Amino acid sequence: MGIKTKEEYIESLRQMNPTAYMFGERIIDILDNPRLRAGIEATAATYELAQMAEYKDLLVAHSPLIDEPVNRFTLPPGSIEDLVARVKINRALGNWVGTCHQRCTGLDCLSALSIVTYDIDQKHGTDYFNHFTKFLKHVQKNDLTCNAGVTDVKGDRSLGPHEQADKDMYLHVVERKDDGIIVRGAKAHQTGSLSSHEIIVLPTRALKKGDEEYAVAFAIPNDTPGLIHVVGRSSLDNRELDGCDIGNLRYSKYCPTVIFDDVFVPWERVFLCGEVKFAADMVVKFSSYHRQSHGGCKSGKIDCMIGAALTMMDYSGTSKAGHLKQKIIDMVHRAETLYGCSLAASYEGGEQPSGTYFIDTVLANASKIHEGKEMAESIRLMVDVCGGYVTDLPSDKDFENSEVGHLIKKYMKGKSQVPVENRIKMFRLVEKMAMESADTISDIHGGGSPEAHRVTILRETDLDAKKKAAKRLAGIKEE
Ligand SMILES: Cc1cc2nc3c(=O)[nH]c(=O)nc-3n(C[C@H](O)[C@H](O)[C@H](O)COP(=O)(O)OP(=O)(O)OC[C@H]3O[C@@H](n4cnc5c(N)ncnc54)[C@H](O)[C@@H]3O)c2cc1C
Repeated sequence: MGIKTKEEYIESLRQMNPTAYMFGERIIDILDNPRLRAGIEATAATYELAQMAEYKDLLVAHSPLIDEPVNRFTLPPGSIEDLVARVKINRALGNWVGTCHQRCTGLDCLSALSIVTYDIDQKHGTDYFNHFTKFLKHVQKNDLTCNAGVTDVKGDRSLGPHEQADKDMYLHVVERKDDGIIVRGAKAHQTGSLSSHEIIVLPTRALKKGDEEYAVAFAIPNDTPGLIHVVGRSSLDNRELDGCDIGNLRYSKYCPTVIFDDVFVPWERVFLCGEVKFAADMVVKFSSYHRQSHGGCKSGKIDCMIGAALTMMDYSGTSKAGHLKQKIIDMVHRAETLYGCSLAASYEGGEQPSGTYFIDTVLANASKIHEGKEMAESIRLMVDVCGGYVTDLPSDKDFENSEVGHLIKKYMKGKSQVPVENRIKMFRLVEKMAMESADTISDIHGGGSPEAHRVTILRETDLDAKKKAAKRLAGIKEE
């Protein structure tokens, strides 16, 4: 099998038959739906770049598990070099697609499972690592894309899973059978679930005694009977369906809610079932890896935003304005700090008992907090540089209209030597990068809410070491 080309990836999705709804209608031809296709094209870039000479060395690596070259998005990190490569491939792809490529969450799940299934087996004598290893071989040999089913819908946030009035507010096991389990629940905000071959489910939070049925992790194909993908709206989605005023002509992002309506999972695909103590480990490992991933792709997106802002300066005749150059500097240092923090999380990582390398959690979470604030600030700077037409540019249909088109084109002109069409295209791209809700809101909530990042920092930082340093300087000696 081996590494897939972009075309083979698209064809492999065509062979699947997931149950999907959007705007109240069943979608049968997923690949031919322009909105979903734009998301699938973003994931397809992870296959396309793996074939390109410029990116091949970064995206393709040797898998010791199957002793073959694999796409890095199927390879849990086995060294510091692998951890660093995770950030670099995400930056390259963020730069290439200008939005979310949607394949990092699957790698983050695979990486977390490769650590925690081993630890559970050591403690409980279970066989989860073996189950996981077989699944990973399947993923690597077929170059599959996996989706992260982590966020439960959660119902009343003041209550734990087993305390909810409706027990299905957190995904749980409703029946244990000889050959597998039946699960019920719903996972929210499933980035690219229809661009993925496999859905990997992990618990969304730490669990305690009484929550055993909620402590469940597994992987199933995205067209398993009982799985229903309901595609969520995003602020510019109608434009993709209309094929008009799109901005980013090639790539986009969509996030379904995925309902598990009594879904059967065979035992060999189960990676956790009842061992409540390990739910926290799974979610901390996944979310820390995922927050590190964001530092790569989002710095890559800021690269595109900087490029758009600079181009608009060229087109509008403002390229010599000192305060705009300062704003470009402010965007560059935000991108580089984000990138640097995620790289640092890689370099400070270390080996886990299973042999997988894990990142430094404090640095990964610091990177994510930085992203939440600084992506918004970078968008503000880009809009400041580009001007008000980011928000109310007339439609392409007006530009094509025989009565007003020539007038709008006349009045939209910037520098005389720049074709007005190019200025219009760049405004549209800036609008898309600033205002597509599916991507911009993930800067804040993707990988957990901002408070989750802060709580992790507080828990994982060695605060006593800092107190000790201060007391030594002040000459305070304590027993
Ligand atoms: C664009 C996008 C893409 C995403 N992609 C994925 C994906 O691919 N896979 C996936 O699994 N998830 C994904 N997520 C989900 C993301 O991890 C969650 O949105 C995030 O964890 C917040 O959960 P929530 O949306 O349920 O908000 P809530 O949990 O309702 O949080 C809202 C606010 O309430 C606070 N809060 C909630 N509960 C409590 C409490 N008990 N005590 C105190 N404060 C509380 C939170 O800190 C937050 O400030 C994505 C999210 C977005 C926006």
